[in-house]
Amino acid sequence: MSLLMQDFDYHRPTSFEELSALVSDCQKGGRAFAFSAGGTDIIPQLKSDTLHPDCLISLGGLKDLNHIEKRGNRLIIGSLTTLHDLANNDLIRDYLPALAHAAHKVASPQIRNRATIGGNIMVDNRCIYINQSEINRECHAPCFKADGDVCHLVKSAKRGDDILCQARFVSDTAPILLLLGARIAVMGAKGGREMALNDLYLRDGIDNRSLEVGDIITAIEVDIPEDDTALHYEKLTIRNALDFPSLGVGVRMTDGAVSVALTGLNTLPGLFHAKPGDFDNFDDMIDHVCAEAMDFAKTYNQDFFPRHYRKNMIPVFIRRGLDKIIKDKS
Ligand SMILES: Cc1cc2nc3c(=O)[nH]c(=O)nc-3n(C[C@H](O)[C@H](O)[C@H](O)COP(=O)(O)OP(=O)(O)OC[C@H]3O[C@@H](n4cnc5c(N)ncnc54)[C@H](O)[C@@H]3O)c2cc1C
Repeated sequence: MSLLMQDFDYHRPTSFEELSALVSDCQKGGRAFAFSAGGTDIIPQLKSDTLHPDCLISLGGLKDLNHIEKRGNRLIIGSLTTLHDLANNDLIRDYLPALAHAAHKVASPQIRNRATIGGNIMVDNRCIYINQSEINRECHAPCFKADGDVCHLVKSAKRGDDILCQARFVSDTAPILLLLGARIAVMGAKGGREMALNDLYLRDGIDNRSLEVGDIITAIEVDIPEDDTALHYEKLTIRNALDFPSLGVGVRMTDGAVSVALTGLNTLPGLFHAKPGDFDNFDDMIDHVCAEAMDFAKTYNQDFFPRHYRKNMIPVFIRRGLDKIIKDKS
């Protein structure tokens, strides 16, 4: 990895007014800018020279975005909350233990101390052909994500295709948040708005988020689930720390209905639901949801594990998660 970053201006606004003035100045001056929160995803991109902003705007000075609070039956999580704080917060551990567990599965203690939940749901899609040092990248033709004309995973891909780049979605917290029906609060030039987290994600590995340029996520909101709901997250990695998910499976069970959310397998997260009334029995329902999840998985050779192994572990993780939920309930 090249450790010398290209020059850029650095700003750390302390208010939304200052932030929006900076964004507007950059836009008027035609200067490319990027936001950083904990910086654990974006700084490696600057160091490996896959991102070259003229201006890096840290959100770290916006102290109002670092909080976790309960309002009625909702939990509001400020986007600057670190993954360490999320994993160890009493409200999250009491009401959303699966989210605390998923946050704890990210990277390593050092990274979780800096990494934020906003950055985690926004973490860039990854592929072995782009997420490596410049010297290694130069060993093959530049791919679409490096402004080139090939995809080394899908050789037949060409510009104009619906999905240009197969870099995969890797956030560890997104599956549980999606299963909880999370909404995000967004602030931008057009003011504040709310949207479903599910609507944030797009199908291409390069252009993979639906935010407008200059939008920031200020908070994530989750309804506290009813007592008959339980969730679980399983992650496949070679090592116990530092590895992105080769496969991540979240499962939710509510009153017999089952939902599954996937990460690490496609350009966006997968989300599937099945309810008992639509099937003859519980096993048929689980077989159906496993088949849907396997269909969705695009396991290219871009990971430590063989592609077939990753795919075959999807139903294993779904059943393992459900077993755990059922055992914990009884
Ligand atoms: C060695 C290593 C291992 C890792 N392992 C994992 C892993 O196992 N699982 C995993 O999920 N991730 C992993 N990561 C990636 C990263 O550390 C986490 O995803 C982290 O949560 C990113 O948060 P951050 O605050 O550091 O994001 P940043 O690097 O600051 O930002 C990431 C992206 O999100 C955008 N962004 C950040 N906050 C906001 C906001 N509030 N509004 C709008 N955009 C925003 C930034 O502009 C940037 O594009 C790993 C990283 C490293 C270096």
